Amino acid sequence: MNMRILAVGAHPDDLEILCAGSLAKYAARGDRVFMAISTNGEVGSPRLPKEEIARIREREARASAAIIGAELHWLGYPDEFLYDNESTRHRYIDLIRETRPDVVITHDPLHDYHPDHLTTGQILWNIRVMTTVPNIKTKHPPCEKIPALYFMDTIAGINFSPEEYVDITATIETKRRMLAAHASQAEWLKDQYNMSYIEFMEICSGFRGLQAGVRFAECFRRSVTFPATSERLLP
Ligand SMILES: [Zn+2]
Repeated sequence: MNMRILAVGAHPDDLEILCAGSLAKYAARGDRVFMAISTNGEVGSPRLPKEEIARIREREARASAAIIGAELHWLGYPDEFLYDNESTRHRYIDLIRETRPDVVITHDPLHDYHPDHLTTGQILWNIRVMTTVPNIKTKHPPCEKIPALYFMDTIAGINFSPEEYVDITATIETKRRMLAAHASQAEWLKDQYNMSYIEFMEICSGFRGLQAGVRFAECFRRSVTFPATSERLLP
């Protein structure tokens, strides 16, 4: 039976760096993949004004999602200023109710480096059960079941203890193309962090592959909270 997968990143390009190889694997085997992005990435340029870089980044994110036939959900919160409050919780509950995933993949709410990453992961953890609760009303009807929640690797793998690996050797080229769709970030990441983002991704995927005994891998942690299932849902 085909599954429905929702991956939620804080910024346009996070999913490409951290889990796109796995998303490409899901898509290739016929699963339905949704990609959602919390913020509009509007600080990601050393020279373009906010509105302009946000527009460019949405276009880039849509081009990347299209490579694997994923449906993109652009939430559009301000970059660097995402908060866990009643309004954002309702928005993410409705995102889950609209996409009705079996599996949600998002940031680790404890160990990543960026507040928008932590907040995205924390909101999804907070609302996971609420998606099924009829008395919490949003635009779409409540889900029948609570989705399984996986946390993807942190940026550069810092402080992340992998529990499950996905061999992405067969999809690394797709992952590279998806990340390359975020062309505006080549300049920003070079300027801000002095790094080549494609090379950065390849080193991280190669290092996780080394740990897993394959050429390239991505890694995850299952959020095991009540009500939990032991079924493996990664591709
Ligand atoms: Zn990010």
